[in-house]
Amino acid sequence: MNSVVEHLAMLLRKMPGVGFKRAREMAEYMLKESPTYRKELIEAIEALDNVKLCTECFYYAEPGKDLCHICSDESRDKSVICVVEDTESVDRIEETGAYRGLYHVLWGIVDMKRGKMPDSEKIEKLMERLARDEVKEVILAMSATTEGEITADYIAEEIRDRGIDVRITTLARGISVGTEITFASPETLARAIEGRVEVDDDKGY
Ligand SMILES: [Zn+2]
Repeated sequence: MNSVVEHLAMLLRKMPGVGFKRAREMAEYMLKESPTYRKELIEAIEALDNVKLCTECFYYAEPGKDLCHICSDESRDKSVICVVEDTESVDRIEETGAYRGLYHVLWGIVDMKRGKMPDSEKIEKLMERLARDEVKEVILAMSATTEGEITADYIAEEIRDRGIDVRITTLARGISVGTEITFASPETLARAIEGRVEVDDDKGY
């Protein structure tokens, strides 16, 4: 392979779900495309430097602000925090209209293949938020996958270990095991939020 294409493919391969074959295809696709497309792509990537995350929940901050549109909305219920693995989960739950509390975006969960834990900065901020007086409940709304459950277990344990007094709940199993939140229909998701259940103290999640 050409060394320039190979270098690009190597960078693309770092992305989740992109293997060597796919990375090479993507690099070669860009090579075939017009210089205009490549310039636009470069500019779009560079513009990511200006994207800021909410300093409270790590969803996207409003342009020029520290907070996102949800955290800065005074009408939201500040006694409930829903922990999700990605920003798409926030969008999906918002679509249901069934939830009026706040969020906390982890930007990834336990990754067993790569032996990675959730980002400690996000976990520490979550613990700080949960320790506040006004917070009464945390909903662990990770995907109903093994890795999602391990992540929920881990967070529940952290909360208990630190003696933080908050009700820990999880989505009702309207979502079948293996279905990621982002694939659930708005109706199913709304039912799962409304029918949320207490996390068992002994079994964890
Ligand atoms: Zn926020």
